[in-house]
Amino acid sequence: MRTALSGVIASRGLALGRVRIREPQALEVEEQRIEADAVEAEVERLHDAIAAARDELEALRRTLQGSVAPELGEFFDLHALLLDDPELISGIDALIRTGRYSAVYALKLQRDRLAMVFDSINDPYFRSRREDLDQVVGRIYAQLHRRRDAAAPEGQAGEILVTDSVAPQELAHLSARGVLAVVTSGGSALSHSAILARSLHLPLVAAVHELLGRVNDGDLLLVDGERGAVIVEPDADDLAEFQRRRRGSERERRRLAKLRTAPTRTADGVDIRLFANAESPEDVAEAFALGADGVGLYRTEFLFLQRPGVPDEDEQFQIYRDLVLGMGGRPVTIRTLDLGADKADATGLALAREPNPALGLRGVRLSLARRPLFAAQLRAILRAAAYGPVRILVPMVCSRREMSEVRALVTECAEGLRSTGQACGERVQVGGMIEVPAAAMSLGSLKDAVDFLSIGTNDLVQYLLAVDRNNDAVADLYSPLHPAVLRVLHDVLGSGRRWQLPVTICGEIAGDPAYTRLLLALGLTQFSLHPSSLLEVRRAVRDSDFGALRRRASPLLRAVDREGIERILVRL
Ligand code: PEP
Ligand code: MG
Repeated sequence: MRTALSGVIASRGLALGRVRIREPQALEVEEQRIEADAVEAEVERLHDAIAAARDELEALRRTLQGSVAPELGEFFDLHALLLDDPELISGIDALIRTGRYSAVYALKLQRDRLAMVFDSINDPYFRSRREDLDQVVGRIYAQLHRRRDAAAPEGQAGEILVTDSVAPQELAHLSARGVLAVVTSGGSALSHSAILARSLHLPLVAAVHELLGRVNDGDLLLVDGERGAVIVEPDADDLAEFQRRRRGSERERRRLAKLRTAPTRTADGVDIRLFANAESPEDVAEAFALGADGVGLYRTEFLFLQRPGVPDEDEQFQIYRDLVLGMGGRPVTIRTLDLGADKADATGLALAREPNPALGLRGVRLSLARRPLFAAQLRAILRAAAYGPVRILVPMVCSRREMSEVRALVTECAEGLRSTGQACGERVQVGGMIEVPAAAMSLGSLKDAVDFLSIGTNDLVQYLLAVDRNNDAVADLYSPLHPAVLRVLHDVLGSGRRWQLPVTICGEIAGDPAYTRLLLALGLTQFSLHPSSLLEVRRAVRDSDFGALRRRASPLLRAVDREGIERILVRL
């Protein structure tokens, strides 16, 4: 029966395919007992499955080497570690031996036990570890099944994966196998999986709460990543519309391709700069090919996430240097570590438990509290700056004192490098992210301590509106179209112009063509966005009259609510 459900747009695109369900969190396994004399064989079967899961993981790591962000390799380390975890394995062994359960049922019992422990702790670090546990258990489960009934491996060409959550490193694998799209019952548009799905051009619709209960393997599913919707068993009208829109997207792609070498200039002749938010070597190559003015945001915490060890100075240096070389002389903005809050790590750097992590030891606060680590990162960046223009961007700045401390450390690191004869960038600019309302409201005190600013609207909106960016229970309230947000953006951009301080916006709104005219009206001339939307934003810029839009700033700022802003926006 046709069923339409809605969710959240995490990665755009249209897809039509057969459902492939994965339910690792609720392993549907009946209680199965075995005979006493079958126990040792069953334990062996379990260990074979774990070994096969390990081999599969290693093979996957080799296949993906070089084709995806190097930092994704680190996720593999964590999963390999879990596959060797004595607590997980000995627990299952004991259940088979003492309870005489089948390996599959013992695996489910042990997984449920550990999941209960994770669930009882209200902490983002443990929540993200629970996801890893489920993914690893799913891998062993698939191996146990494969042995029994040679079931097809998960996610084939022409299929759409429907699951509760998806890990970033899985996405690359799924896309390489020809999986058309992913739909999750949880998740959000600002998760790392969403960011990587966009990098891979893999449609992803998140937070479709009821879907898992409504579909079966093999059902036909239409995924509308443009509207954040899915249709189970679409009817003839849906299919006709799908075909029409798909032909339209193809025509659109060809039209956009013509803009690859076009200048990003408004109809009235104002040059706008488009920088790239790059997460992987592919993003860097795409940004370069599409004529991005440089990299406006490189999120270095991706190198630290979900790995047990910290990348040392040399490892970081090589990655940053390749990034700089990849942009062939265009400026590259490297953001220092922004761990903490929703970006939980396995390195032990961020605090595992904080009463309110979004307001806790994150971003530059964490870096300043871990000075040797921060200095190693700064040295790696300064060394990479010997190969091309580099700017350092500091996340979550709240006060002048923090910027001054960072600058002093940058100077100290540069002097240290020079004194040992190491090549090091000359005039490396240091800028601050405007994500905390206090920084936006005290720009005057920050201005002498920064060479440029970048507004991180993903966090700025979260902190201005007190709405968690990752909580889909309040997703309706999370919108940049709030009078307070427009006021702050307008003021920061105005101050930047007055003080001749370059200001970029690097949050997701900069890459959404629906907001391009709004941002131009507020005075933005430098965008930093994922390369996948660069051409669309370039076209929106070229279709705009900057002077006329600037004259609409006043009515926008006078609007008293979201509806009022939206009414002006459609006529801009
Ligand atoms: C932001 O907050 O807008 C931003 C770009 O940083 P991140 O999404 O990595 O927190
Ligand atoms: Mg941020």
